[in-house]
Amino acid sequence: MKKFLKLFIMASLAVLLLAACGDDDKDATEEGNTEPEETEGAEDTEGTEETDESDGDKLQVVASFTIISDIVRQIGGDLVEVHNLVPTGTDPHEYEPLPEDSKKATDADILFYNGMNLEGGDEGWFFKMMDSVGQDESNAYSLTERVEPMYLTDEESKEEEINPHTFIDPTVGILMAEDMRDAFVEVDPDNAETYEENAEQYIERLKEIDEDYAERIGDLPEDNKTLVTSECAFQYMLDTYGMDEGCIWKIDTEENGSPEQITSLIEFLDENNVEIMFMESNVEPRPMETVSDESGVEIFEKPIYSDEIGMPGDEIDTYVKYLEYNIDVISEGLGN
Ligand SMILES: [Zn+2]
Repeated sequence: MKKFLKLFIMASLAVLLLAACGDDDKDATEEGNTEPEETEGAEDTEGTEETDESDGDKLQVVASFTIISDIVRQIGGDLVEVHNLVPTGTDPHEYEPLPEDSKKATDADILFYNGMNLEGGDEGWFFKMMDSVGQDESNAYSLTERVEPMYLTDEESKEEEINPHTFIDPTVGILMAEDMRDAFVEVDPDNAETYEENAEQYIERLKEIDEDYAERIGDLPEDNKTLVTSECAFQYMLDTYGMDEGCIWKIDTEENGSPEQITSLIEFLDENNVEIMFMESNVEPRPMETVSDESGVEIFEKPIYSDEIGMPGDEIDTYVKYLEYNIDVISEGLGN
């Protein structure tokens, strides 16, 4: 019954989208080449739409951004089909879902999001999208329910906001993987064993990475444990492993690189004898380049990753590679 209603909404939405968006046919055809299959009641929409439909046997998953999508693939394996919302190269704090996202969200059996305001909170783009497609909020799982929030304080207004970048910390990755496993088991109990096995191996790997972080950060020179980046994104990880943080701006949604922010970081670098800074893969480089020019402190040659992993096939295309890469960069940049 619920399924039927979902399909009906989906079909209606597809018609609306076709009417609203001229090149939708083209998109559907391009993506549809892989697996044309038996349609689930979408017959009354245009033919090209059907090829866009997904495998009816697989659990349909929507994930808010690239890191969560990768964890879904690791734990869901062949049992799931995941649609990623915020793509690589796009700010997850402020995103406008595409027609394709709304279609997938309508049809999803389960949706995962970070929470901690990464997707803009209860009033943000993710829940607006959920509302607009009539998706039941109980199908959406936050992966940070067990994480103690940390806050960023705006220097001028003194207002506090939650730092959403929990996932940079491998110990949070472990919690995310466990919570996702439990959500899959709840929604698809017939396949519980597979989810549990996949998760066990994966969590084992994350625990090794956690140990590696602790060891390599422990090995850094005591006077060289300050990580300076553009956005104050690394707070959870730095706190877990005992490092200090410097940055230009608090969070991507505010002004990025005002003269006051730049001056304040230059003073910080001087007071803390910082010798090297790190630039994130997805930020506007100019503010940090300005800081570097004016302070003489160099930017490490390799970027560090914060809000995203690369596209499939890129060097850093999984969460595990992202975590391993970041600790390599940190220990290369700050080590002796
Ligand atoms: Zn961010």
